[in-house]
Amino acid sequence: MSLSESQPCAPRTVVDHFIDGAIVAGGRRHGERINPATGEIIGTVALADVETVNRAVMASTRAAAHWRDVPPARRAAVLFEFKRLLEAHFDELAEKVTLEHGKTLDDARGEVRRGIEVVDYACGAPELLKGEFSKNAGPGIDTWTERQALGVVAGITPFNFPAMVPMWMFPMAIACGNAFVLKPSEKDPSPALDLARLFSEAGLPDGVFNVVNGDVEAVNTLLGHARVEAVSFVGSTAVAEHVYRTAGEHGKRVQALGGAKNCAVVMADADVDNVVNALMGAAYGSCGERCMAISVAICVGDTVADAVIEGLRGRLANLVVGDGMSPGVEMGPLISADHLARVRAYVDQGVAEGAELVVDGRDHAATGNDGYFLGGCLFDHVSPEMAVFREEIFGPVLCVMRAANIAQAMDWIDGHEYGNGTCIFTRDGEVARVFSDRIRVGMVGINVPLPVPVAWHSFGGWKRSLFGDLHAYGPDAVRFYTRTKTITQRWPAPRRREAANFSFPSD
Ligand code: NAD
Repeated sequence: MSLSESQPCAPRTVVDHFIDGAIVAGGRRHGERINPATGEIIGTVALADVETVNRAVMASTRAAAHWRDVPPARRAAVLFEFKRLLEAHFDELAEKVTLEHGKTLDDARGEVRRGIEVVDYACGAPELLKGEFSKNAGPGIDTWTERQALGVVAGITPFNFPAMVPMWMFPMAIACGNAFVLKPSEKDPSPALDLARLFSEAGLPDGVFNVVNGDVEAVNTLLGHARVEAVSFVGSTAVAEHVYRTAGEHGKRVQALGGAKNCAVVMADADVDNVVNALMGAAYGSCGERCMAISVAICVGDTVADAVIEGLRGRLANLVVGDGMSPGVEMGPLISADHLARVRAYVDQGVAEGAELVVDGRDHAATGNDGYFLGGCLFDHVSPEMAVFREEIFGPVLCVMRAANIAQAMDWIDGHEYGNGTCIFTRDGEVARVFSDRIRVGMVGINVPLPVPVAWHSFGGWKRSLFGDLHAYGPDAVRFYTRTKTITQRWPAPRRREAANFSFPSD
């Protein structure tokens, strides 16, 4: 038995697909896998062609026909074992995330932990799928509503959480009795393949969980495939919209989570030292490559704005930027050379549009290293028409805006095309309550900079941060990954004569 067969998480030079319980090749094209901290090519990833995707969907179709009838408690038993294996391989998974994504090892551990929490929740499948029952809905008539699996579900995921975002989807879909085809990001595909191997080792029947690696060709094949009943997508807004439209046109149920521009409102009564630390983590953690990252701090009043700017300036001077594998590093590299160029161009544009660049990460010492490094950047006096406010940068760039009052701060947030997350720092409960009640954003933190819902609540933004009605994981995932059927039954006494009734049944 080879190393990769005996150890599910062993490193692989070529990352292939996982179809019908086995690692298989498929497709003539390959992409490069690069360590963003060094710029080195560490291997390749297979890019699935139409035939490979079809193979995965057919394996899922066969498996779904049986898996739907496996009692939820038995499905849960497999999920419990999967969870045990995830804990046993926790550090290896986190290291894979850091190697291909670049985030620090501690951050990667946090990501894997939040993914495992969804597996914990999915272990409650028997309770989650209980349905509803009405005895004597009419005379001698019982009615119940049950949740049935959809069949084959596809998931398409982004680079920034290569373990957690897939785990937002497939554990819940599979707990609900579906088979799942995952298309992870081609930039950091290794963790997804490890997850498939571990789930298989836990006893999941072949074909229930398949991973096809690839790019646009694989995605578009899934979106148009007649056997795919539903699609969960997480990624940028442009692609989310494409996925939502295309899958919708093919009659599929779709949830497509898109981009974000998350603003923190800092009120004059907030504890500035704590706010500065909270903003450091929320803006620069994971190099700003989080859909819940705070990329704008709207300070209400100049006094608090000046204090926040001074605090951040001091803290940024000591931000430890480097290889996420190294202890003590606070911020790793960006994902790719292209993305680094894109983020730098936004910083240039902010300067050109008249924002004040208080800290210029383009000069940070780490930018001299190999790898895709940028220091933390801080803008002051950003105004709502500037591109650095309007567009998602997805990098270590924090914009400070100065509002005259909370109404203006809320107007700027409500007027933005995105509505993923926001937070407010204040000691005033009334202000916080009005803010959380009225703001047009899907996830709100009150003195919590990254209000990512726990696994038993659902995750989702508003406006152009989500296309579809149902959010990811939590109770909404049970709704998304099942369809309800309502059955009405009666058992009349034998040989009892019943007259024809031409009126609409009303009792
Ligand atoms: P992306 O949209 O480039 O890629 C996401 C997925 O779509 C990948 O699997 C990719 O292969 C595929 N894809 C890319 N271009 C495509 C195309 N033209 N047609 C079909 N498929 C295509 O996103 P990314 O750069 O990997 O991730 C970063 C983005 O994801 C950011 O915008 C971030 O805000 C967003 N994101 C959102 C959430 C959320 O919950 N709202 C969570 C994480 C990330």
